[in-house]
Amino acid sequence: MKEKITPYLQKLIDGGNAAIAFQFKKRKQKKLKPKFKNPDPLGEDEKYSPVKGLVHKFRNRVLWKLTYDCAAYCRFCTRIRQIGSPEGDLSYEEIDAGAEYIRTHPEIYEVILSGGDGIYRVHYSMYVLDTLMKIDSVKVIRIGTRMPLHSPDSFKTKLFKELLKKMRYIAKRKQLLVLIHINHPEELTKKVMNVIRTIKKTGASILTQTVLVKNLNDNVDILEKLFTTLYQNGIRPYYLYRCDYEEDLRPYICSYAEEKKIATELRRRLPGPAYPMYVVDLPEGRGKIPPPLNFWKNTGSSRACFDFDGKKIKI
Ligand code: SF4
Repeated sequence: MKEKITPYLQKLIDGGNAAIAFQFKKRKQKKLKPKFKNPDPLGEDEKYSPVKGLVHKFRNRVLWKLTYDCAAYCRFCTRIRQIGSPEGDLSYEEIDAGAEYIRTHPEIYEVILSGGDGIYRVHYSMYVLDTLMKIDSVKVIRIGTRMPLHSPDSFKTKLFKELLKKMRYIAKRKQLLVLIHINHPEELTKKVMNVIRTIKKTGASILTQTVLVKNLNDNVDILEKLFTTLYQNGIRPYYLYRCDYEEDLRPYICSYAEEKKIATELRRRLPGPAYPMYVVDLPEGRGKIPPPLNFWKNTGSSRACFDFDGKKIKI
């Protein structure tokens, strides 16, 4: 994956923001003996994709990958194999095909716009939102994005103002959630917080997801600060992820034992609504399973869990 950094992020890096530099600057990694064979650890590319861009793993919801592009590229991206490739850019016809699939599967009541970044190609995202507004069975729309952190100034442009206006309209008629990927308190600059407040004013609920990244945020004090700041600003921390088992992400994957220790300590320190659920995205798209924390240390094997179907899975 090539390096892509917005002028806003570059300015922070130049000013000495180490957490931003770590996430976006390309650097040489030590060669490791290959361990993970599957380049598509979550089974998104074919197994669960009925129409280009759509991932239908769970009965009542779909993930809709509108593009493989983002304003900046995170070095530990779970879709590192695809990010930056124009092949993921859906055309209007492909969006229509996805909408038809959703329309003919009324059991799908939630659609998650993603990518890449769910609002990076903002024209297309707005077209998708207009399309979803016409499907009665869709009750919940979730937008996954890092745009507020990658490029807060974009939200001052005419196009993004149009998007915000559309979001205001949608939030009055359906449940609208914006899920922002935030990993470190140093990302929460004044500009970023202002954009998040602006999005919140549309009536959308704001949730966050955080990936545990080795040498970035695998530290209980850093995460406590992050989740406390979010919570105190009316933002609900939702997921704390274990980094996915992708070969190129190995330098970023923390020790499982250490992660459980961190998640356990966070549970002790944070009020309930400030505590995100710590999850492991199981191989082959078997779902995000919360591992037992150290409160449950002596309740059977700590290296196995059961997926949604009750099948025993080694993690
Ligand atoms: S914004 Fe999300 S999809 Fe884009 S590179 Fe970062 S983690 Fe990947």
